[in-house]
Amino acid sequence: MQNINWDRLPFAYFKTDYNVRCYYRNENWGEIEVSSSEYINIHMAATTLHYGQEAFEGMKAYKGKDGKIRLFRWQENAARLRTSSEGILMAEVSDELFFKMISKAVMLNAGYVPPFGHGASLYIRPLLIGTGVQVGVNPAHEYLFMVFVGPVGPYFKEGFNPVTMQIVKDIDRAAPLGTGHIKVGGNYAGSLRASERAKKEGFSAVLFLEAKEKKYIDEAGPANFFAIKGNKYITPKSDSILPSITNKSLMQLAQNMGLEVERRPVAVDELSEFDEVGACGTAAIISPIKKIVDRESGMEYLFCKDGKAGPVSQKLYEKLQAIQFGEEKDSHNWVTILD
Ligand SMILES: *Cc1c(COP(=O)(O)O)cnc(C)c1O
Repeated sequence: MQNINWDRLPFAYFKTDYNVRCYYRNENWGEIEVSSSEYINIHMAATTLHYGQEAFEGMKAYKGKDGKIRLFRWQENAARLRTSSEGILMAEVSDELFFKMISKAVMLNAGYVPPFGHGASLYIRPLLIGTGVQVGVNPAHEYLFMVFVGPVGPYFKEGFNPVTMQIVKDIDRAAPLGTGHIKVGGNYAGSLRASERAKKEGFSAVLFLEAKEKKYIDEAGPANFFAIKGNKYITPKSDSILPSITNKSLMQLAQNMGLEVERRPVAVDELSEFDEVGACGTAAIISPIKKIVDRESGMEYLFCKDGKAGPVSQKLYEKLQAIQFGEEKDSHNWVTILD
């Protein structure tokens, strides 16, 4: 193993020693296989390549001061992967298989879990693809479920520093009754054009609107959106949003802190009334947003006027990280210690 500078890790692919794979054939999942190859060998007519039968998950393993490796709410990721499977007709992965696969992938690469104190963690990427051969548009009969891992630093290069977002109306991420609520690769392919343009124009990500009316906020790039207004934690409700486990956890922590939680359609017009706004997801946990610009109208909304995250976002972030790293009592039973 090479020497890793834990303080300078990007959020990027990082080669580790092993990954794990499990094949679904003849209506059954096979044995878990361990591989040290970064490549997979699949048929050129596999459904994942042509018709987008692909879903993924993103989660992290955290090492505490005690040296123990912790998973955070993995059961939620397993359940969400099944919702994704259901949405695009793929074979389902049970909780048992999901846990065996992720824990094996983490433990085989235990030396890559960043030690406590660097803000870094081990990113876990479970991936489910249709490998069966189809030329007509049909779901595959064979699937590959695999998990690879890699140490990562903060998602946004600014770290826990405020980011900027662009509202766009000429590109939608997901259709109202489409696949926005499941974690499938196709949603990302469709959003690349908007997000690359936003980056070129100087923004960190796109704030996508609900596609039907273009009045309400949907997703903050690859993350959920939330706002703080007085004593309220407000987050959009929409059929085309991917239900973030981070957001779900922040809603609980906000409630514990005595905030009122509102999950409802959030109109763009309301942005001017919010005290703090942010994006949340496993990768960045919370990215406070300092500026939102509507690309069409030029309208600007400014936050974090002192250049820092707002006090509520800061507190929520610290609370959640403290639980994930085992610094604080896990009173909701969110953490699984691997040994
Ligand atoms: C994965 C993802 C999120 C964040 O979900 P977490 O469970 O918090 O990591 C939010 N939005 C989209 C579109 C996603 O793919």
